[in-house]
Amino acid sequence: MACTFCSIAAKEIPSDIIYEDERFVVFKDIHPKAPFHVLVIPKEHIVSLIEAKQDHSALMGDMVFLAKKVAEDKGFNGYKLLMNVGKEGGQEVDHIHLHVLASKA
Ligand code: AMP
Ligand code: ZN
Repeated sequence: MACTFCSIAAKEIPSDIIYEDERFVVFKDIHPKAPFHVLVIPKEHIVSLIEAKQDHSALMGDMVFLAKKVAEDKGFNGYKLLMNVGKEGGQEVDHIHLHVLASKA
């Protein structure tokens, strides 16, 4: 079965995308756990941090800096970044993603 987040990146299923470039998509979480809750995903299908290789270090670093940009562009002075890693780490969607959560300022 197709990966949900690859399908979002390919626009095959609808989502509320707030940012996109050649390597990343940022979209609103369908079940927000904070007033502002988005997911940053690379377009490359990497299952989780467990499967990520050292070669992905630049991509991972840029993912964090994109989360920072998105949150700060929205005017948040503070926010939470969360990555669930693997089933035992609470990861439900098998495509690496970084949660960005913030409350209204
Ligand atoms: P995780 O437990 O870290 O794998 O979190 C997966 C997140 O993806 C959850 O917060 C879900 O609400 C969210 N999610 C799952 N499917 C979709 C979707 N189609 N569009 C937006 N968010 C989704
Ligand atoms: Zn995928």
